[in-house]
Amino acid sequence: MDKPVELTGLSQPELVSFVETLGERSYRGRQLFAALQHRRLRSFDEITDLPKELRTRLNEAARAATLNVESQYISTDGTRRYLMKTHDGLPVETVFIPEERRDTICFSSQSGCPLQCTFCLTAQLGLLRSLTAGEIVEQIVIALNDAYGAGVKPPRGTNLVAMGAGEPLLNLDALLKALRVMADPQGLHIVPNRVTVSTAGVVPRILDLAKVSDRPHLAISLAAPTDELRNELMPINKRWPLDDLLSACKVFEMSLKPGERLTFEYVMLDGVNDSDVQARQLANLLNRHNIAAKVNLIPHNPADPLPYRPSDEATVDRFKSILESKGIHTYVRKPRGRDIFAACGQLAARQSTLSNLSQITSIGANN
Ligand code: SF4
Repeated sequence: MDKPVELTGLSQPELVSFVETLGERSYRGRQLFAALQHRRLRSFDEITDLPKELRTRLNEAARAATLNVESQYISTDGTRRYLMKTHDGLPVETVFIPEERRDTICFSSQSGCPLQCTFCLTAQLGLLRSLTAGEIVEQIVIALNDAYGAGVKPPRGTNLVAMGAGEPLLNLDALLKALRVMADPQGLHIVPNRVTVSTAGVVPRILDLAKVSDRPHLAISLAAPTDELRNELMPINKRWPLDDLLSACKVFEMSLKPGERLTFEYVMLDGVNDSDVQARQLANLLNRHNIAAKVNLIPHNPADPLPYRPSDEATVDRFKSILESKGIHTYVRKPRGRDIFAACGQLAARQSTLSNLSQITSIGANN
C-alpha cells in the first residue's frame, strides 16, 4: 500500500488535485483545506461537513496530523514549550510566546541540528532529520489550538520565528513551502512579513533567498566579531567566514523591499564575546561592509552542560552603547521561558531534568 499523504503541507491547489485523484469534485479540496488550515482540525473524523464515506477514504489514503505532543511545559511568564514526536519517533520542539500585542511561535525546521554551535544545546543532538513542510505547519496549528482552541481566531496577530531546533536554510525548500501554505488567506493567513528566519550563515542559501519575492525576514546569528572566535563558537564559520557571510548579507540587503529588515543576532557570553573591544570590532565589521542592519543582543540562556554564563546587565548595556555610538541600531532581547528550557539555545528535547513545572502530558495528535 502507498504511504499515506500528509495533507497539512499541501497548498490549496495541491489539495484540490489530491481529492480529484480520489474521484472527488474540486470544491472538496477547498473544503478540506479550510478544515485543516482555517479551522485547524487535526482529524478527518472531526470534519463532519464531509460525507462519512469520504472521511473513511481519507483515513485510508492520507493523514491530517502526524505530530504527537508528548509533553507541554508552561513557564511562569506564560511561555509554553511543546515537546512533540514525529511519526518516526524523532523530537520536535515548539515554543509559544504570548505578548501584549501579538503572539510569537518559535518553530523548529529540523529534528536536532547538524551545526555545532558550542553555545547551543540542540547541537548536542546532531541532525536527526529535516522536517517536512507539513510538520512545520503542524507545529503552528498545535500551538494555536492549545492556546485558543481549534478554530478559534487568535485575538492577537501571530508572528513566527524559525529559531527553534535546526538550521532553517538547510531545509529551505520545505520551509518556503510551509510558509506559502500558511500565507493562504483561506487558511492560517500568516504572511511572510510576519515571519523571521534565523540562520547561522549558510551563504549560498542566503543568496538564494535574496531572489525569492515572497520571502520571510532574515536574521543572521553572529555570536563573534572575528573569525578566530567565530570559528570556535560557530564552526560553520570555517566554511563561510565573516567576510563571505557579510558580503552575502550586503547582497541580501540590496534586495530588501520597503518594510523588510535584516537583523543580526549576537548571543552575549560572559567573558567570551562581550568586551568593549569586541563591541567596537562588531561595529567596525558591520560598518566596513556598509550594512545598515539592526543588532539584537541576546543574553545567553544558561543550559547545563554548556560551559557559558550570560553576560551581566551592565555589560550588555555597555556593549549596546558602544554599538549605538558607532551608528548601529541595537536592541536587547528579553529572555522568555528560561525556566522551562524554552529560551534560545536551550532546546534539546529536554524532559527528565525539568522540575517544579506545570506539565501536561500526552495531549495527542488530535488536539
Ligand atoms: S544555534 Fe541554531 S544552527 Fe547553531 S547548533 Fe543550535 S540550532 Fe543549530
